[in-house]
Amino acid sequence: MNFEYTKKTQDLMNKVDDFMQKHLFPHENKVYDFHRNNPWKDYPELESWKKEAKKEGLWNLFLPSYYGDLSPGYSNLEYAPLAEKMGRLTWASEVFNCNAPDTGNMETIAKYGTPEQKEKWLKPIMNGEIRSAFLMTEPAVASSDATNIQTSIVRDGDDYVINGRKWWSSGAMNPHCKIYILMGKTDFNAEKHKQQSMILVPADTPGIKIIRPLQVFGSVDSPEGHAEIELSNVRVPASNILLGEGRGFEIAQGRLGPGRIHHCMRLIGVAQRALELMCKRANQREAFGRNLIKFTSVRQDIAKSECEIQQARLLTLATADKIDKFGAKEAKNLIAMIKIQVPQMACNVVDRAIQIHGGMGVSQDTPLAGYYAMARVLRLADGPDEVHMFQLGRNLAKQYEI
Ligand SMILES: Cc1cc2nc3c(=O)[nH]c(=O)nc-3n(C[C@H](O)[C@H](O)[C@H](O)COP(=O)(O)OP(=O)(O)OC[C@H]3O[C@@H](n4cnc5c(N)ncnc54)[C@H](O)[C@@H]3O)c2cc1C
Repeated sequence: MNFEYTKKTQDLMNKVDDFMQKHLFPHENKVYDFHRNNPWKDYPELESWKKEAKKEGLWNLFLPSYYGDLSPGYSNLEYAPLAEKMGRLTWASEVFNCNAPDTGNMETIAKYGTPEQKEKWLKPIMNGEIRSAFLMTEPAVASSDATNIQTSIVRDGDDYVINGRKWWSSGAMNPHCKIYILMGKTDFNAEKHKQQSMILVPADTPGIKIIRPLQVFGSVDSPEGHAEIELSNVRVPASNILLGEGRGFEIAQGRLGPGRIHHCMRLIGVAQRALELMCKRANQREAFGRNLIKFTSVRQDIAKSECEIQQARLLTLATADKIDKFGAKEAKNLIAMIKIQVPQMACNVVDRAIQIHGGMGVSQDTPLAGYYAMARVLRLADGPDEVHMFQLGRNLAKQYEI
């Protein structure tokens, strides 16, 4: 396996980097401050940056070339280092229309939607005109086991009627969020993995009530945000079903591949930047008569972090490559491996960077506290670590059954 970046990839990485250095990094702290004080409002420059990114061809870079005309023409392997660059600023991906949860949602509709569904919902998300959310997790049941989901989707004439309560619906607090992909049950008596379906639910449908924004470590996590939502007799046309009744589990498996690896790609950017900040601080800060970098434990923290980042980067590139060549299903073990390894790696590296910064590391004067929160929640979101280990362990041992 050779994962040297090609000239095409290197040129694109430089382009994303230049764009971020020119337009985004000068606003880094101002954007964080703005969102702390104005949750879910658009930062004043956001629209002009998006226009510029579109103009420069840095738009929807995530959608792989096998989506034909919808795709800008890059493979997952080519996209991985671009997402890493974007990940260095937790809010930057949206400028390129490459942010969660929209990337996973766009890919779901691109893969499973009808031409009408694509025209009505995929097009405006891909144009950056509206945002979307994915509603699977429920407060009442252990949602790491998706067979537990209790929300009902009942056929009534030409409609479906939905009842249930969801939470951790990322992106749903944003006023631009106009469409949900909801997972619920159309048949509570069918075989365990055939009970669930996914359906498109416009956010303004009567019966939908946003109960509250959930906080992540005490912050409402703007601009993304996470909502608790009640759905009471929410009626949508039957044509909003994705793929067909009972196919929800199948879509969920397909959906998690790309979305999960995008998170991992971004987290490598998070860890890489944390390491760079750690090195800078260690070179400058003096304690007990010498710079921190002169202490063995500090050098060990830096060395360990570099080893862990490089390992995670190569594993992520190998996963992207396997998806490109054989599809997400064939890459399922590698996908599980990066989901287990990368968020924990990023937690470890950011934690060391925080320690080396002392009190400053947990303040608003560096991005480290936000990085830590992001890395930590990604040990839960898209499935907790243990569930990926549970499945990977099962898959591996199965090969040696006698
Ligand atoms: C910031 C954030 C954003 C999110 N965004 C979304 C979103 O956009 N849409 C959405 O639908 N959901 C979202 N989620 C929800 C997330 O996917 C769930 O929290 C996750 O799947 C776990 O489900 P649960 O919270 O019900 O935990 P539970 O299912 O109750 O699990 C609790 C714990 O039990 C343990 N456990 C579970 N299974 C096993 C096992 N097999 N072996 C050992 N231990 C096990 C794990 O430690 C696990 O963390 C988000 C969550 C967070 C924190």
